[in-house]
Amino acid sequence: MKGKIVAVDGSLVVAEMDGRIVQNSVGYCVRSDGTRLLSEVIRVRGQRADLQVFEETRGLRVKDPVEFDEHMLSVVLGPGLLGQIYDGLQNPLPQLASQIGYFLQPGVYINGLATDQSWDFTPTAKTGDTVAAGDTLGTVPEGIFEHRIMAPFTATGNFRIEKLAGEGSYTLDEEIAELVGEDGSTLKVTMQQNWPVKVPLSVARQRLMPVDPLVTRVRIVDSMFPIVRGGTYCIPGPFGAGKTVLQQITAKHAEIDIVVIAACGERAGEVVETLRDFPELIDPRTGRSLMERTIIICNTSAMPVAAREASVYTGATLAEYYRQMGLHVLLLADSTSRWAQAMREISGRLEEIPGEEAFPAYLESRIAAFYERAGAVELRDGRVGTLTIGGTVSPAGGNFEEPVTQGTLKVVGAFLGLSRARSDARRYPSIDPLDSWSKYGGIIETEKMVRVRRLLSHGNNVRQMMTVVGEEGTSLDDFTVALKADFFDNVYLQQNAFDKVDAATTAERQKFVFDKVLEVIDLQLEATEKTKVRQAIVVATDLFRNWNYAASDSDEYKGWLEKIDQFIASKGRT
Ligand code: ADP
Ligand code: MG
Repeated sequence: MKGKIVAVDGSLVVAEMDGRIVQNSVGYCVRSDGTRLLSEVIRVRGQRADLQVFEETRGLRVKDPVEFDEHMLSVVLGPGLLGQIYDGLQNPLPQLASQIGYFLQPGVYINGLATDQSWDFTPTAKTGDTVAAGDTLGTVPEGIFEHRIMAPFTATGNFRIEKLAGEGSYTLDEEIAELVGEDGSTLKVTMQQNWPVKVPLSVARQRLMPVDPLVTRVRIVDSMFPIVRGGTYCIPGPFGAGKTVLQQITAKHAEIDIVVIAACGERAGEVVETLRDFPELIDPRTGRSLMERTIIICNTSAMPVAAREASVYTGATLAEYYRQMGLHVLLLADSTSRWAQAMREISGRLEEIPGEEAFPAYLESRIAAFYERAGAVELRDGRVGTLTIGGTVSPAGGNFEEPVTQGTLKVVGAFLGLSRARSDARRYPSIDPLDSWSKYGGIIETEKMVRVRRLLSHGNNVRQMMTVVGEEGTSLDDFTVALKADFFDNVYLQQNAFDKVDAATTAERQKFVFDKVLEVIDLQLEATEKTKVRQAIVVATDLFRNWNYAASDSDEYKGWLEKIDQFIASKGRT
């Protein structure tokens, strides 16, 4: 498929093509100096193709040639993905930077995986075996995991293994297997394969209902607004409320095998922060770099919009690939608002009929399709893999009544809304305990959770009333409720991301502390007087805070627990 450019409008190019034009195929617009700019067909009108160019279109002119084949925008999958930092088109950013410097140049593409590196392959299947798409042929050690080399995902039907490489070291270009289909067709297999990013990758026996709690070790999430493995959640919040920090602590502490981060189009400074901070993070499980089980896809708003749009899909595809190995994967998209803005910009250029706030009418279906890629699947050999997707939303002015937040709310299973008031008061993580919700079951019994929710909302009502009538005008009962709600907030919901111990609380410890907190809440403090109630809450808050900062296996931990028990017993007697 060849053609000539007839118009250039920012990242949108219109070309007159000869031959059949395939929607979503990728190819190149070729500048007169020979530079080839990666582009995608996003609309077909007769012989005209609307192309989005993933690069700066400066220098591109009318009559410049375009060349397309029928491939869709794809990524390469194979050993070596972990630890990589890619742009939205899977160019390894550090290599790009070292090759051409920090001012990225259009038209330079580097293969997503190094083809000169060798990997130690161990066959697990044998010649003569029957396999289908996604079945394991062998393994390769990759960091702390066994990377499974799988039969090509594009293969349909059953295949017999005609040839299979023995144990040894191979590059990604070397053939490691030859498969023969029922119709006699042969498939040559290497350790890498390609997959189109906009097509969900899932070769499974069945989709499972996600029910297994994903313990993030963030107390307010696990205990109040749980997430499950294979589920979805969103974190909407105004600028500076703590979305990125929450994503980072989740990446570090959540009980998950692999984390894929799609850092999508936030301001360049923030992305640089992610690039600088992440490689320094230590994995609490291995004591080694967290990057060994992380992939970062990274675009700034300075990069062309089309590449920004692609980064979310690239992230999803890499995450699905590892799920296919029977691993638990977490995809964090930060921020989906920037992704939606990219969609809006492209839609505007296409002069499509705009929907609310000029977002395209298909905004909601695109958001839904993205979160649909999450899920728990049972693989053909009975193992289970999960992909959990968490996306941040950064609505202008923190107003949740806007299309991206609303579209996301309709499809996700949990909503962790960040509150400006809480982050201003430095109550971190600033998830609003009154506004947030989750449809999933977690680690705390529902009955206990409901009690605490009721306490928080009752406490909030009393607080509001108190601002009008003052403390004197508030009954002792109400006053006690307000203080108990504060107590729960201070010692349980708030958590210091920067403290070694408090940053992460295991499920076991959460359950234990939760029950202790309930014991305090159950104390009949209102049998005394307001000053006594206040004194008691101050003491309890202090004890629990210290307890939170004590490592589970330390003497301090036992010491504070004893003091807490003494405190509860002493109050029980009055
Ligand atoms: P956003 O991504 O929503 O714009 P950030 O996640 O970058 O906001 O957070 C902004 C700042 O707030 C951080 O640099 C940090 O100082 C503070 N902060 C956010 N979350 C926490 C937390 N859980 N614990 C302590 N400080 C936090
Ligand atoms: Mg941020």
